[in-house]
Amino acid sequence: MQAASGRDAPDRCPGAVQVHAAADGGLARVRLPGGRLPAEGLAVLRAAAADLGDPALELTSRGNVQVRALRPGAELELAARLSQAGLLPSDTHERVRNIIASPLSGRDGAGLVDVRPVVAAFDAGLCADPSLAALPGRFLATLDDGRGDVSPLGGDVGLHGDRLLLAGAPTTARTCGFPAGLTTPRTCGDPAGPTVAGGWDDPAELLLAAARAFLAERASQGGTAWRLAELTDGPARVAARLAATVDTGIGRRDGGAGPAVGRTPQAGGPVALTVVVPLGLLTQEQSAALVAASPGEIIVTPWRTVVVPDVPVDEAGAVEALLTAAGLVTDPASPWAGVTACAGRPGCAKALADVRADARAAVAGGLDHALPVHWIGCERRCGAPKGRHVEMLATADGYRVVS
Ligand code: SF4
Repeated sequence: MQAASGRDAPDRCPGAVQVHAAADGGLARVRLPGGRLPAEGLAVLRAAAADLGDPALELTSRGNVQVRALRPGAELELAARLSQAGLLPSDTHERVRNIIASPLSGRDGAGLVDVRPVVAAFDAGLCADPSLAALPGRFLATLDDGRGDVSPLGGDVGLHGDRLLLAGAPTTARTCGFPAGLTTPRTCGDPAGPTVAGGWDDPAELLLAAARAFLAERASQGGTAWRLAELTDGPARVAARLAATVDTGIGRRDGGAGPAVGRTPQAGGPVALTVVVPLGLLTQEQSAALVAASPGEIIVTPWRTVVVPDVPVDEAGAVEALLTAAGLVTDPASPWAGVTACAGRPGCAKALADVRADARAAVAGGLDHALPVHWIGCERRCGAPKGRHVEMLATADGYRVVS
């Protein structure tokens, strides 16, 4: 019998260990909490892709990285390499480490708080709790530092500044664990709204409690829901389990925008360089250029861009030249800034077209569109960007434009 959520089976999202059998071979998804990837980790991924599967790394709409076309059994070698590089801290929890965070948090002064320590603490708490291995692979946490970039991306649980979100909706639950300096006045136990029982000193603990409340509510509803919004009255009932009630402090937003392509000044002088990865496919040459360019880490964003933070300003020109020469895009006016595509043929058996080749031809032919354009090989619409965009939908009779 099908559950109230409409799901009758657990999700089958791929992981790095539990790979998906795609038409072109094994598909492994490596979770990068907050998109953060040390340069040496990218070097490991690059080498693994070259040795074990398709040499190009695929960026996902959740800021993760995929290795495609793995040969049978190659996932074991991949897992060993990832473990050694520290990219696979838990075999049991690897599919549930779905954490998107404001990519420039703590660096450009635009947010209200620095969410980087919360990402690390939430990830560690997730992996340390055996019960949370039962979260679905689709379950998503968004940690927005208050600038409003990742809260609209459809998280199941999230923070927006110091406020808890459930299925994107604000609650009155607030955390006192952020350092002073929020631009909006607030106190723990905000008199403007009900407080969460017991108070929450630690933002990561608040998120972990919300994730456990989701599992408890799902169990009580007797289903296999993949997302909090699929539960009957999901946000309200999970909020009730946290002894909070929903108010309208933070609205849902349409879309959500990542860091601007190009240079963003950071506090203290360096710049963060945000580059577009055309079609989210990171070639061997591009990965090598990023490894060479990065002073420490790169940040994979949910918008198929990559940020190279902490670049000394007097080196920024040379770094941009290096990245551009490899085919990465530093010009915000480039048509690539608004073009995405699903895997399509030959990687996906459901695809009706080689959408990436067709998207490339369209860009080469002078594609010009006011809205982002997403190319898809079938009606499943994988990887569609949030917010308004135009779809190029492959059909048996050619492409249909859906806007
Ligand atoms: S949208 Fe269709 S063709 Fe594209 S990856 Fe998803 S299932 Fe495959």
